Amino acid sequence: MSILLKGGPIAKVIRKEIKAKIEKYISQGIIPTLGVLIAGNDPAVEVYTAMIEKNCEKVGAVFKLYRFSENINTEKLASEIVDINRDPLVHGLIMMLPLWSHIDEKIILNTISPDKDIDGVHPVNAGKNVLGEETFVPSTAQASKDILNYSQIEVSGKHVVIVGRSNIVGKPLANLLIQKAEGANATVTVCHSRTKNLKDICRSADILIAAIGSPNFITEEFTNPDQVIVDVGMNESIDKEGNYILTGDVDFNSVNDKVAAVTPVPGGVSPLTNTALLNNLLKAVEIQTK
Ligand code: NAP
Repeated sequence: MSILLKGGPIAKVIRKEIKAKIEKYISQGIIPTLGVLIAGNDPAVEVYTAMIEKNCEKVGAVFKLYRFSENINTEKLASEIVDINRDPLVHGLIMMLPLWSHIDEKIILNTISPDKDIDGVHPVNAGKNVLGEETFVPSTAQASKDILNYSQIEVSGKHVVIVGRSNIVGKPLANLLIQKAEGANATVTVCHSRTKNLKDICRSADILIAAIGSPNFITEEFTNPDQVIVDVGMNESIDKEGNYILTGDVDFNSVNDKVAAVTPVPGGVSPLTNTALLNNLLKAVEIQTK
C-alpha cells in the first residue's frame, strides 16, 4: 500500500496556530478581515466563496463580500477597488475569476494593492516569488509544497516534475521549490501540453506533481515505485445518482500500491490550500499594521 499523504490532520494543526494569532490581533483591536470581490456569474465562484467564508469563521477572521453587477465597466470596477485598497479595515483581497466578459482582467488584477493581494496574482508578488523574496504565494502552489514539507518528504536535491504551468499553480510552485531555502532546493522540471516524452519525464521524477485539470490523467505508466505523487487536481463532475464528485488529475486506483506515497483527492492538497490562504491573510495584516 502506498503511504497516503493526508492534508486534513496537518491543516487542523496549522488552523489552530492561525486561530491563536487572530485572537492575539483581536485582543489588540485589530480584526483580520478578508474581502472577496465578485464581478461575474460563475456558479463555481459561489461554492469557492462559501468555502472561504466558512474557513474564515473557523479561525475567527471577518469575511466581507463585495458583489458588482454586470453593468459595471472596467474603469468603475478599478475605482471601486482603489477605494477598498484604501480601507484600513480590510486586509486581504481576492478577486474571483472569471470576470464579466467585458471587463479587462489584467487591469483589474493589477489594481489590487500588492499589500492586500493574498492570492499572489499581482505581478509585484509573482516577481518577488521568482526572486525568492518574502511575498504572497498563490495558496494552491504553497499548499503543494506544504504537504511535502509537513509530511517530512525530503525535497532538497530531488528531481521534482510538475505537470502544469499555470500562473496560479505550476509556475509559482516551480519557483518555490527551486529556491535556495529550507524545504526547497529541488531540481525542477515543468511540463505542459507541448512537452514531448511526458511519460518518460514523469517516470524519472522523485516527486511528481500533477496540476493539469484532466481527471485521472496520471496513471501507473507515468510513475516509478519510489515516487511521491502530489495530486493538485480538483475536477468536478456529477455522478449517475446526481451526486457532486471531485476527481484528481491522478488515477488513484492505478498508482496506489505502485508508488511510495500519494495524496488523496479530496483530502490531500485542498485542506492546506485553505490554510495557506489564511496564512496569507495574516501576512497582509502584519504588513498593514506594522
Ligand atoms: P490550468 O490553468 O488549466 O493549467 C493546466 C496546465 O496543465 C497547463 O499548463 C496545461 O498546459 C497543462 N496540461 C493540460 N493538458 C495537458 C496534457 N495533456 N499534458 C501535459 N500538460 C497538460 O489549470 P490550473 O488552474 O493550474 O489547475 C490545475 C489543476 O489544479 C486543476 O485540476 C484544478 O482544478 C486544480 N486546482 C486545485 C486547487 C486545490 O485547492 N487543490 C486549486 C486550484 C486548482 P498548457 O499550458 O500547454 O495549456
